[in-house]
Amino acid sequence: MCRESQSKESMDLFRSKMVEAKRIVVFSGSGLSATSGMSTFSTQGGLYEQAKKQFKLSDGKLLFTYSFYSKHKVQAESFFVEIHKEALRASPGPGHKALAVLGTSGRLARHYTLNIDGLATKAGMDVWDPEDNTHGKTVEMHGSIHEIVCTECGETRLLTYDDTDLLSRHQSIPCSSCSSRDDGGPYMRFKVMLYDDMEGEYITSDDVLDLMEEDVKKADLVLWVGISFQQSASTSYFRKVRRWLQEEARHHDVPQVVINPSDDALWNVLTACSNQQELNILEILGTADDILPMIADHKMSTSVTIPDSTHSNK
Ligand SMILES: [Zn+2]
Repeated sequence: MCRESQSKESMDLFRSKMVEAKRIVVFSGSGLSATSGMSTFSTQGGLYEQAKKQFKLSDGKLLFTYSFYSKHKVQAESFFVEIHKEALRASPGPGHKALAVLGTSGRLARHYTLNIDGLATKAGMDVWDPEDNTHGKTVEMHGSIHEIVCTECGETRLLTYDDTDLLSRHQSIPCSSCSSRDDGGPYMRFKVMLYDDMEGEYITSDDVLDLMEEDVKKADLVLWVGISFQQSASTSYFRKVRRWLQEEARHHDVPQVVINPSDDALWNVLTACSNQQELNILEILGTADDILPMIADHKMSTSVTIPDSTHSNK
């Protein structure tokens, strides 16, 4: 099948699925925040490149590994303070706002985000918490740059101005709940998931995967928005979702929709999956800011015009 007709077919199917979907599960990545003023990680001039220059690393990604963090906590944290400042200045984009509208419409089962910028919350969505808010619509799978956590007692709280001041002066933040050591520790850390994070259980609750399985098994539409599938974490979530849908024998009825302006995203995820003939994927070439507001629009009918950017025109 030629690419042009495949795209047309995907759009028609997506349009009909969007109209009837009542339990939508959304996974989002950095593309959701692309127009919000947040630096991306892997693009030119992005966080990896900045970290590489600032710390003279062979690869800027190293700064975001647990082994670097545990050895160079003070330097890594001063870098995270800058990301935090950027997140404070950033504003939710049309994609975030559309998700918030979907959240109140009752059609959004859950929004799982790989982003740490807290912008979904800024747009008005509430964050899921296994103890305090089990109805929360957004699950921050990799934590939040706005929060710090104690890996001794689990105390979690928002980062304050005083905290950032301490970190900027290369000092650590003692835990106010359990700090008792002679050296002033234990200390708190940013609640963001690092590569090979040895303290990952303090960043993401073990209950997240159970919740995700429950949501996915009941979903009638699964969207992957602004995720490039360059990271192993995102492809592993994708494979889990496929397995859960297969277990329910619903993988042919519930398409996984990859929404991204670049067709590299689909290529990356296909490369990472075996048994590709078993996959039911719709590729929608468009940005989160273009596509999510369309889904959120209650008045949308089958006659809605899809913007040109969603067609395959590369
Ligand atoms: Zn503590």
